[in-house]
Amino acid sequence: MNRQDFPILEKTIYKKYPLVYLDNGATTQKPRCVVEAMSHEYYNVNANVHRGVHFLSQAATDLHEGSRETVRKFIGAEKTSEIIFTRGTTESINLVASCFSQAFMKEGDEVIVSHMEHHSNIVSWQLVQARMGIKIRVIPITDDGRLDIEAYKALFNERTRLVSVTHVSNVLGTINPVKQLIDIAHQHDVPILIDGAQSTPHMAINVKDMDCDFFAFSGHKTYGPTGIGVLYGKEKWLEHMPPYMGGGDMIKTVSFEHTTFNVLPYKFEAGTPDYVASTGLAKALEYLMNIGMDNIEKHERELTLYAINKMQEIEGMHIFGPIGEHVHEHDAVISFEVKPLGATPHTPYIHHLDMGTLLDRLGIAVRTGHHCAEPLMRRLGVEGTCRASFGLYNTKEEIDTLVQGIKRVQSMF
Ligand code: PLP
Repeated sequence: MNRQDFPILEKTIYKKYPLVYLDNGATTQKPRCVVEAMSHEYYNVNANVHRGVHFLSQAATDLHEGSRETVRKFIGAEKTSEIIFTRGTTESINLVASCFSQAFMKEGDEVIVSHMEHHSNIVSWQLVQARMGIKIRVIPITDDGRLDIEAYKALFNERTRLVSVTHVSNVLGTINPVKQLIDIAHQHDVPILIDGAQSTPHMAINVKDMDCDFFAFSGHKTYGPTGIGVLYGKEKWLEHMPPYMGGGDMIKTVSFEHTTFNVLPYKFEAGTPDYVASTGLAKALEYLMNIGMDNIEKHERELTLYAINKMQEIEGMHIFGPIGEHVHEHDAVISFEVKPLGATPHTPYIHHLDMGTLLDRLGIAVRTGHHCAEPLMRRLGVEGTCRASFGLYNTKEEIDTLVQGIKRVQSMF
């Protein structure tokens, strides 16, 4: 699908192998239109936004605010005032942790996260815990890497103030039933943040239909540039939250005695924003909308099922996350470990670093390690995994290359 739009995919690795890029969960490659839109802006429009009366500043401001409108449309939000530009998912979650807790939490209050969270959705809350003495409650997962919904229901009590969970696990590929999680939270009058870092690149998102209170995602995982991300928040929460940082753009008036803050979303956007990255992000989102998120989802679903089937045929293969009857809850992220050929039940799995390093020598880029999810690694009883994650440009031929590569590595041990 549209491979020719991504120049990097033409690369040869070690002057020998065509690149097979299967590390899309970490970051996606950029289509030519994104890079061109950004360089065009630097060459032709560049000026600081929001502050200038001159032509270029107004043109740059129009581009930046136009990008906000594109983001609004892409995630189905009602108003641009609910779209805050951040540096990425991590900053979006930290913003909520910091500002929501100041407005709505006190010592002894509780936040619910899950056992499959990325560190950004754990440590942000631990910082609040250290500062205010809140409690972090954890939704357990089943052995096949799905949330235990009954246990989730049992975690709510009169001190629960927020739920913060991932839409798709960056390790297990599990697509969590967010609609159900949101409904349950709302039945308890508790707002909910959805970490969309791993879902936004793969499926159509509509925050209004979902009815989540906050939604976070990263530009660079969604075919856009690095250094920009988004926090969507319902106005009713954002209005009552204090600013995240102080500085230019987030104020209405400043005096040494009293400062008043700007309206939404600028209250949360102190300092010069990355207005060129917002253009790149909008271009990426337009690119995805032109292909159609439903088409991308369909293509990646086919790839994922194909990969899981092929990989399961490999002797000594263990795939983490939902498979079998729940395979349809498995998104385009596949974590695995594999034993050497002729292994007995006691033979250890090939170390993920060895597997990743040797696959790399064959031109296949996968990720290895704990994937910023150490508590989940402990739950799975491993130190790390090897992870292949797909994007819209990947093909079945590349999955065949991965499978052959894994078998070749296996035969070396
Ligand atoms: N949440 C999830 C589920 C992720 O996979 C990641 C990155 O891998 C993040 C949050 C953090 O994203 P970023 O580093 O772009 O802020």
